Amino acid sequence: MGLACRPHLPFRAWEPGQVAELPDLKSFVDSHERLFVLTGAGCSTDSGIPDYRDAGGLWKRPPPMDFRSFMDYPLRRARYWARSMIGWRRFGAARPNAAHFGLAELERRGRVALLVTQNVDGLHEAAGSRRVVDLHGRLDQVRCMQCGLLRDRGAVQGELEQLNPRWHGLEADDAPDGDADLEGMDFSDFGVPPCPRCGGILKPDVVFFGENVPRTRVEEALSGLRRADAVLVVGSSLMVYSGYRYVKVAAQAGLPVAALNLGRTRADDMLTLKVAQPCTAALAWLMGPGLLPGATGPQASAALVARS
Ligand SMILES: [Zn+2]
Repeated sequence: MGLACRPHLPFRAWEPGQVAELPDLKSFVDSHERLFVLTGAGCSTDSGIPDYRDAGGLWKRPPPMDFRSFMDYPLRRARYWARSMIGWRRFGAARPNAAHFGLAELERRGRVALLVTQNVDGLHEAAGSRRVVDLHGRLDQVRCMQCGLLRDRGAVQGELEQLNPRWHGLEADDAPDGDADLEGMDFSDFGVPPCPRCGGILKPDVVFFGENVPRTRVEEALSGLRRADAVLVVGSSLMVYSGYRYVKVAAQAGLPVAALNLGRTRADDMLTLKVAQPCTAALAWLMGPGLLPGATGPQASAALVARS
């Protein structure tokens, strides 16, 4: 069944001031058999991976480097890899939290048509989710931009550390996407390994700003949306178009959309239901006890928004 031939469902816009509780979210999840789940950075913050945006949807920090800068300027590339070498130690060691485990459990119960994530940390797969589209790629893989060779990020990390012993002991604050703050450093002597096969430029296999999401991934996600009867957004402000587009398509087709997100989302006016709770606590509560050790319930009276 395609999106176009669905009967138009009654659509309720979000009205600020009204309260949506977690039980409302539970009813939403329980009353739809095949969810298209869309996740973002808010899903991974409790795994120690920082978020890009604040509760108002604005940048907390300068936007990440774009594709052309990376490809055209060796010094900027060195800066990227230096920051990434430091950031990877924590990023590569991040473990899934109750939000990832909860969504994996939802899939095991046969309720997930497809999970599409904007995150590049691979934590949904680590938690056991199988039907996953990594919209923006995976940071644990590195690709040669010339010959396409795909390498394990861990192996490249070893080479980076071998080439740059002086940078070894540096500490820096973690930043999103395995990045780290290393402002004010001279990156001209930072060694970046070339592709071992052809000598080409190695780039993390993630979609940089200024790059397009590969068409096959877009199509795979759209096909998942066609199999779904509702959309559940978890921990995304939907400010990036590559994720927002699916909510837009869903809303236009009359599919109900619920969002679990602490801040404003770009699609607030399209939501059937919005719950402003931390993803980890909410998913732990939603999927019941025993999800993982130490999972806690939600603060029932926390400030919640929305439902008409
Ligand atoms: Zn190559």
